[in-house]
Amino acid sequence: AEEMLIRSEKMSVAGQLAAGVAHEIRNPLTSLKGFVHLLQSGIEQKSDYYKIMVDEIEKIETITSELLFISKPMTDEKSKVSLSEMLSDVVTLLRSQATIYNIQINIKMEKDVILYCDKTQMKQVLINLIKNAVEEMGNGGTIQVIVSSEEKHVFISIVDEGPGIPDDILHKLKEPFFTTKKDGTGLGLMISNKIVENHNGAIDMMNNRDIGSTFRIRLPIDG
Ligand code: ADP
Ligand code: MG
Repeated sequence: AEEMLIRSEKMSVAGQLAAGVAHEIRNPLTSLKGFVHLLQSGIEQKSDYYKIMVDEIEKIETITSELLFISKPMTDEKSKVSLSEMLSDVVTLLRSQATIYNIQINIKMEKDVILYCDKTQMKQVLINLIKNAVEEMGNGGTIQVIVSSEEKHVFISIVDEGPGIPDDILHKLKEPFFTTKKDGTGLGLMISNKIVENHNGAIDMMNNRDIGSTFRIRLPIDG
């Protein structure tokens, strides 16, 4: 039994993913099948059923498109990218969604840093983390994106004013399919972590002293 335990702990990321995908996609499929049977039986309120069916199909679509993104081989598409440019692109992209919820996004950065990275992937990481912050905050508040650098590393902290991270789930956040949201996929942090690790960096997560949490990306400056 102990041996099996060790083996399952060491189950590859691909294995964990495959198991998760099978599970996550089976649920909406089972539900879709049920509704098709109901419709076949000539039930009345069709439009309600169509709405639920479309929701289920969309869930499968989201999961598969997020998975396709990570299954792409890590091609060497690294180039020199200005962090301040990347951050303002990402914040511009997210600002309209944030404004709907009365949320401000501020960038604090004293001097620009040039990163050697895959720009599309690194933007995806920033989008995932800032989007999570927006989603946790509900209505109103400020998200700070704070950049600081040392000789060899840059730190990008996303500081939110949400409810923070309960201690008992902290270790699960980067697991595939772990989500506390009704419409979450639980893939964002897993993918972000993988991308940052592939760039020889790390993501730390912590609760703030007062309110909210901080997700801090550390990246080497020399690529
Ligand atoms: P999703 O956003 O689809 O739920 P993620 O992988 O992006 O998936 O996040 C996983 C979980 O981590 C979230 O459901 C939430 O419980 C937690 N989490 C992520 N970001 C934050 C945050 N800024 N504050 C508190 N909890 C967070
Ligand atoms: Mg997310």
